[in-house]
Order: sequence, then structure tokens, then C-alpha cells
Amino acid sequence: MIELQVPLGERSYPVLVGAGARHRLLELLPVGVRRAAVVTQEAIGWDVDPGVEHQVFTIGEGEDAKHLGTVEDLCRDLAQWGFTRGDVVVAVGGGVVTDVAGFVAAVYHRGVPVVHVPTTLLGQVDAAIGGKTGVNLPEGKNLVGAYWQPSAVLCDTEVLGTLPPREYRSGLGEMAKYAFLGVDRLPDLPLDEAVAACVRCKADVVASDEREGGRRAILNYGHTLAHAIETEGGYDLRHGEAVAVGLVYAAEVARRLRRIDDDRVAEHRRVVAGYDLPLAVPAGLDPQRLVDLFSRDKKAVRGVTFVLDGPDGVEPVAVADRALLLDALEACRAPT
Ligand code: NAD
Repeated sequence: MIELQVPLGERSYPVLVGAGARHRLLELLPVGVRRAAVVTQEAIGWDVDPGVEHQVFTIGEGEDAKHLGTVEDLCRDLAQWGFTRGDVVVAVGGGVVTDVAGFVAAVYHRGVPVVHVPTTLLGQVDAAIGGKTGVNLPEGKNLVGAYWQPSAVLCDTEVLGTLPPREYRSGLGEMAKYAFLGVDRLPDLPLDEAVAACVRCKADVVASDEREGGRRAILNYGHTLAHAIETEGGYDLRHGEAVAVGLVYAAEVARRLRRIDDDRVAEHRRVVAGYDLPLAVPAGLDPQRLVDLFSRDKKAVRGVTFVLDGPDGVEPVAVADRALLLDALEACRAPT
């Protein structure tokens, strides 16, 4: 078992990575906790044993379940059960479950402890780490939320065995991102070590900038194009697959700005292809429309802010040259 820390002073917490990590739940519950509310989904099919009195609460599937109505339902269930700050929420699921359960933990009684047991690869390398929680509004994704750090995270790699292949691939897209954020030789590592290396990288970034005042934005590497593709909708790409295309695109943009050379672009393509992820923007998407969408990204503060690789590593960069953005898109077109 690999044991890591997210170092945040008094709010530091352990992250365990490895097969069977979920069995360590009891020892990682906050001291003196009386009861546990386990929040999960029917489809997940993995139980945890908190070792204290507990009840299981299931939520619906997908982005449609990630809304304020689900938060209200869960809070009411907890209130009817007499849940207090001496109890703990345990989220068992992918990013949808940990985002919703984490947000419930942030707001119920103005904050109760939460332990995450992420069951998707994307959850283990990304969503369950770092304390961002929240839900969608009809107006957009993740528009309501809170920073609420968990008290522990258990990344049990055994549970990834039942993940549908598309979901696994989606996680690989987020994983590929870390290969460019300083995790060396990531594709060569065994799964447990690869997950742990990504967690270590995210923990380091979060520790330096918990509330995304600056550096944390690098975790959005590859996401500007990914969000534009997802906003256009109707294309059969999971989030991590769209991020994979976004990584290649970001490299093409960076090369045109002379921030990186051809070899580094080739490395992006090699890593993404090595994970069997898509390299090209789905056919049929209008490049002009995609570039229009870049500037509407929630993370775009002024104009189009891209996260780009360069001599000093990956960092946010303002890009004003529309022709350059279109030209880089051309380099990411599927062959016809
Ligand atoms: P998801 O939570 O929808 O899970 C994908 C599917 O896999 C679901 O149908 C789920 O029921 C099923 N599943 C989960 N674990 C399983 C298992 N072990 N075996 C079989 N089936 C299983 O999707 P996701 O990709 O994990 O998360 C996406 C969400 O995460 C998005 O809403 C995104 O906004 C959020 N997210 C949050 C952060 C953050 O920092 N908070 C970061 C990245 C993504």
C-alpha cells in the first residue's frame, strides 16, 4: 500500500493507494466518530464497512444527478437520521458521487467530515483529491460548490477492475495530463504507482495553491479545448478522451508560440496514443465555433487563457492570436 499526504497544515490528510485500500476505512475515520453515512450509486457495486453504525444513501447516475435537488434530498435524509458533526460522510463512487457527497459534507450543519473512496480512475487521480466539491446548474457545470477537504482518501485500485472500459479510458486521459505536469515515465509505471504519482503531483499543486489563486490552474492542462468539445456536445467522447485531444492541441498551440519544439509535441502525441486515446478533434466540429467557446470557459478570466507547456513547465498564458489558434486546430483534424 502506498501512503501519501496532502499537506495543508491542520487540514492535511492521508491518501492510501493500492489494492484493498477500502478495508482501511475504519482506521482512517476521524477519531471518535459515531456514525457513517455512505453515499454511493446502485451501479457501483462495491461495499465498504465503516466499522461503526452506518446507513447507505444512493444517488442517481451521471451529470443529471449532480444538482441541488440531490443535495437537498441527501441533507434531508441526514437530518431525519439525526446526523451530526460527530458523524462522517463516506463517498463511494466516481467524481459525481465525491463531488455531491463532498458538497453535502461542506454545507450540512455548516460542515461535517467526509472520507472519499473514489471508485473510478478519474476519481482516484483527480476528482477525490484537492477539496473541490459542487454541483451543476441548468446554466452550466460545477457552478455551485465549495472547497471542502476530505479527512482521508482511499484509492482502492482493486475496484477499478469492474469499471466499464470507456470510463477507464476517460481516467487515462486525466492521467496522461500528469505526464506533462512533471510526473516522469508515467506510462511505464505499474497502475498503483501511476495513480500514486498522479496523486502526489496533484497534492503538491493543491498544497501550493488550494483555492486556485494561480498555480492550481495548471491542473486544467488540456481542458480548454476539451470543454469546448463537450459544450458543443453530441460527440461520443468521455471527458478524459476530450482532455487527451486537448493535450495534443495545447502542444500544437505552444509550438506555434515557440514555447516548445517539435520533439515535445511528438512526445504529447506519443503519450496520448500510448494510452490508446484519441489525438484528433471529432470530425464535424466547426473550428470557428470552438475558438469562440475558448473565451467562454469558466476558467478564462481575461480573453483566452490557455494552460501551455514551455521552458518553465506548464503555466497559464494569455493567447490573443485567433489565427494561430485556428491553425493549431487544423493540425488536430482527423484525417478524412
Ligand atoms: P462518474 O462518477 O459518473 O462515474 C462513471 C460511471 O462509472 C458511473 O456510471 C458510475 O456509476 C460507474 N462506476 C463508478 N465506479 C465504478 C466501479 N468501480 N465499477 C463499475 N462502475 C463504476 O464519472 P467520473 O468520470 O468518475 O467523474 C466525473 C465527474 O467528476 C464530473 O462531474 C466532473 O465534474 C467531476 N470532477 C471533479 C473534479 C474535482 O476536482 N472535484 C475533478 C475532475 C472531475
